[in-house]
Amino acid sequence: MKLLLVEDDAELVRQLRPALKKAGYVVEHADNGVDAEFIASEEDFDGIILDLGLPQKSGLEVLKSWRVAKKNTPVVILTARDSWQEKVDGLKAGADDYIGKPFHVEELLARLEAVLRRRFGQTDNSLKYRSLVLDLDTQCVTLTDQRPSVQLTAIEFRLLRYLMTYPGKILSKTMLSEHIYEEE
Ligand code: CA
Repeated sequence: MKLLLVEDDAELVRQLRPALKKAGYVVEHADNGVDAEFIASEEDFDGIILDLGLPQKSGLEVLKSWRVAKKNTPVVILTARDSWQEKVDGLKAGADDYIGKPFHVEELLARLEAVLRRRFGQTDNSLKYRSLVLDLDTQCVTLTDQRPSVQLTAIEFRLLRYLMTYPGKILSKTMLSEHIYEEE
């Protein structure tokens, strides 16, 4: 799963990157609104984490332009903790959820998972396809009625998760590599 992280606070990015990577996401980063808008128009992301207070173009404007362009990628916005107006504006502009700063990384991950679950019609934190069940928390895979489950490596998990998120869909080699590998 490939995420776009839009945040101009370098320290926060430094904290978030490893946590998102550990959770199985490939992360691309933009530190201003103009780049963010461009990158998301050129590449296909499974989810976006969007700070609202950004240089060059505000997160809210970026979000509005994505939605006008019919880009419906799930978006979790990062807002100032006590600004209820920002949350309302963000949700009305098409955000799927928000989290107030400062926040615990675990809460951001949980909100992101919830947004992706809703988007892909899952009812719990696992992916199911025929007799195959992939647990997104433990990164283990099980064949129904067969034990034990198998612990996947990081790459195996990312690959299987991506395939199971789009069952029946033909995914090209480029799409697979872009959604699974971080570097060239
Ligand atoms: Ca900011």
